[in-house]
Amino acid sequence: MAIPQSFIQELLARADVVDIVGRYVQLKKGGANYMGLCPFHGEKSPSFSVSPTKQFFHCFGCGKNGNAIGFLMEHAGMNFVEAVKDLAQTYGMPVPEDDTSPQERERAAQARARQATLSDVLEKAASAYRKHLKASPAAIDYLKGRGLTGEVALQYGLGYAPEGWRTLASTFPDYQDALLVDSGLVIHHAEDGGEDKRYDRFRDRIMFPIRNIKGECIGFGGRVLGEGTPKYLNSPETPVFSKGRELYGLFEARASLREAGYVLVTEGYMDVVALAQWGFAHAVATLGTACTSEHVQKLFRFSDAVVFAFDGDAAGRRAARKALDVALPFATDVRSVKFLFLPAEHDPDSYIRQFGPEAFARSVSDAMPLSRFLIDAAREGCDLGSAEGRAHLASNAKPLWLSLPDGALKRQLLAEFADLIQLGLHELQSLWQPPSPAPAKWQRRTPADGQAPQDGSPSSGFTRRFSSDKPARGLGRQLPASRADHAVRLLLSDMRQWQDLNGEDHQMLCELPAPHGTLFTWLDSQYQEHGSLPWGALREGLRDHPCEALALKVMDTAFAAQTASPEEEPDPKAPSPQALARESAAELKALLNRLLIERLKAQETQAIASAQTDPSALERYRALQARRRSLENPPEV
Ligand SMILES: [Zn+2]
Repeated sequence: MAIPQSFIQELLARADVVDIVGRYVQLKKGGANYMGLCPFHGEKSPSFSVSPTKQFFHCFGCGKNGNAIGFLMEHAGMNFVEAVKDLAQTYGMPVPEDDTSPQERERAAQARARQATLSDVLEKAASAYRKHLKASPAAIDYLKGRGLTGEVALQYGLGYAPEGWRTLASTFPDYQDALLVDSGLVIHHAEDGGEDKRYDRFRDRIMFPIRNIKGECIGFGGRVLGEGTPKYLNSPETPVFSKGRELYGLFEARASLREAGYVLVTEGYMDVVALAQWGFAHAVATLGTACTSEHVQKLFRFSDAVVFAFDGDAAGRRAARKALDVALPFATDVRSVKFLFLPAEHDPDSYIRQFGPEAFARSVSDAMPLSRFLIDAAREGCDLGSAEGRAHLASNAKPLWLSLPDGALKRQLLAEFADLIQLGLHELQSLWQPPSPAPAKWQRRTPADGQAPQDGSPSSGFTRRFSSDKPARGLGRQLPASRADHAVRLLLSDMRQWQDLNGEDHQMLCELPAPHGTLFTWLDSQYQEHGSLPWGALREGLRDHPCEALALKVMDTAFAAQTASPEEEPDPKAPSPQALARESAAELKALLNRLLIERLKAQETQAIASAQTDPSALERYRALQARRRSLENPPEV
């Protein structure tokens, strides 16, 4: 296929199949889906269903199904490339041109090679800076003065860019090479008529290599050694480096993160390195920019708990407030977000120097939970003694509260705010989240946005029918699907649930025997690359994948279950999309609990088997058993 797979998936994540099909077929909302008369076979009552959450259409009469691209091909008679181009034009996404002809494909390969080359150039510079550090007593003295040992300097690959305008010329004999400019190492000024000027960007600075999660050097931060300005200088944005996405120290921190159970987000690279020196090797820093939603999303891929540690000054306070805004949509009930405010005159390093590492560890564990910071932020400047002040608080709090994902935390906060504002719980809820008016008969849902896990859009309706103990009508003769199949179905139908799982769940699912484990590993990599995707886009990514057959089999049953009776009129008392999503999440949780119990049982058997030769195995067995029993008989709530 000439068009890159990842582009097709991004396209399908942005496109709305309801919109595309709706151009040709009159659709009517029915439950979570849209129904219409099938354009592929003659019929009088609608059995053609389009799912906005899955981004997939399915006909229960003739069995035709597919995503938006498939629909354009089948119905409008386009070939694959035409359908992709048509769709891309509708959504204003330029089709990557590099891949449309052999020459252009060649160009794309060159662009990829170029990124690799940029990384090589940066790596070579990093190694030169490290060598210069060894030869610079002043730079070594500076680092020693900050309390750093050679070991930590080596771990983070610290270096030194000497004074002088063209020091890099000794490392790169062709100083005119455009790669030096493209990688951000060299600054180039072409003057009118005059000769062109080139010089090193980093001079007389301690150099902090910035690595991506694969460990490749993608840029540098440089701290001036003397009194020059700016104090901190970063690589510019390049094809390999984007500061709104990258976090300094994440690569180096990976191992410690898991051990510590949380990630510490600080303001600068010196904080990260100093903290590592004090034994807190699980710190990262944003790169001279406010925390972005991409940063937060990335952090949660590595840990379920994030502690923002900002300096105690006004700038730190502002940075924390910004971090609160971007973290809110990710604050699900299984995650923890906290804010550590150091005394005004301190950064983490100076705090530990004065009070010691234990005191710092204590202040981390006493850090302010997101819920409290949220309330503080909302009531700032509001006089709660007056009705006006309380109304002001309500208006401050509303956008913050609405950003939170649905869950227990959100509901508790509603109660707290109701208290503060002196309104009844239901009054406040109807003020903030008025019940949506019944959708007009032909009204369409807004396009499902696969990238926005926080949008609170409905989960698929079929899970409800699947979740009850009684099988849905018409399904009685079907064998119950295996638990692993069931988990596949829930997660492929609503991938947003993947991010709400904890690390243990992820690991357990990825370690299931093939093909299920392979499929979950693939799903995880998709999540890392694209965020959550609707089924229509996942289906495209699975083409020719070893797990394609499993996914299609499982999703086919999902569709069959979904419309056990497609002609049924929508039930006015049907549960809300939010309720369905909650139900589906609860179902997944119960299912994972069962899978975890099975896994523990298998581990118990293993422990018993090795108890004859390994004395510690018995203890392990008891721990496993205790854990399993607590899962089997959860305490009554
Ligand atoms: Zn049909």
